[in-house]
Amino acid sequence: MSDKPADWAFFDEALGVGLQLGLEVDSILFREQTEHQDLVIYQTAQWGRVMALDGIMQVCERDEFIYHEMLTHVPMLAHGKAREVCIIGGGDGGMLREALRHPVDRVTMVEIDDSVVELSKQWLPSISDGAFEDPRADLVIADGARFVAETDRSFDVIIVDSTDPMGPGEVLFTSAFYSDCKARLNQGGVMTTQSGVVMIQGEELTTTVSRLGEHFADAHGYIAAVPTYAGGFMGFGWGTDDTSLRRISEDVLRERFTATNLSTKYYNPSLHRGAFALPTYIAERVEAGK
Ligand code: SAM
Repeated sequence: MSDKPADWAFFDEALGVGLQLGLEVDSILFREQTEHQDLVIYQTAQWGRVMALDGIMQVCERDEFIYHEMLTHVPMLAHGKAREVCIIGGGDGGMLREALRHPVDRVTMVEIDDSVVELSKQWLPSISDGAFEDPRADLVIADGARFVAETDRSFDVIIVDSTDPMGPGEVLFTSAFYSDCKARLNQGGVMTTQSGVVMIQGEELTTTVSRLGEHFADAHGYIAAVPTYAGGFMGFGWGTDDTSLRRISEDVLRERFTATNLSTKYYNPSLHRGAFALPTYIAERVEAGK
């Protein structure tokens, strides 16, 4: 591979295992050490605007639709009649945007760092696309773990759109947190989690499945390929007591997809089913958590 052109400025993310993500950067639009993390907004040559937290890629305008569609529409369409949704994290507003495309009563979004929300609105408006102004959106600035431990609200779907298990995000990968999420889920509820790039952070998916399995009848994983979460398939944790939800037929998913009038760029009902058909090395990571 040729060396990167000398005149390129790069956003470099050292991913571990001798792999690095480099994005050609035109400029740094904004940088701030918030109360919780180092936040940088980059303008890149070909990937749109990018937000990094503590040096780790969070969201990129060019491919964010993949992650946000798959972490939202898979649980929402599997459930089929979610009215109360909770997003833990998700400060950029992309998950909120996708959840509000369903006929929900309310989406409670619990984000620890209000600077991420405010700066995403200012520098990455295409990601939230007005979602924060939707009357069904209820933004709570709090630690997600504390919120689920203390709230009296209950939910049909919980989506954990967190940073990686370090710093403020670490608590969102614990069994105690999953236990509290379980307690907040209505009958037939389902939760999904951001569980890292499996080839690089494989233990994360195994640990998530194992800890979800302590509280749910069906703990599993599914995948999507997100170019700027470099290193191969991204893993998502799945937890529910309704063991039928992971096996909803493609026909039923298509009926629900059509009825919801969703237009998507990555998600579709056949891909929903396919996302649970795991490559062997990922299936082994999931099974190791059982
Ligand atoms: N797509 C990204 C990924 O896969 O890493 C996640 C994006 S989103 C920006 C992650 C959000 O989680 C951040 O806004 C961060 O502030 C928030 N977060 C981290 N720890 C949290 C906690 N304990 N409670 C609530 N939000 C938290």
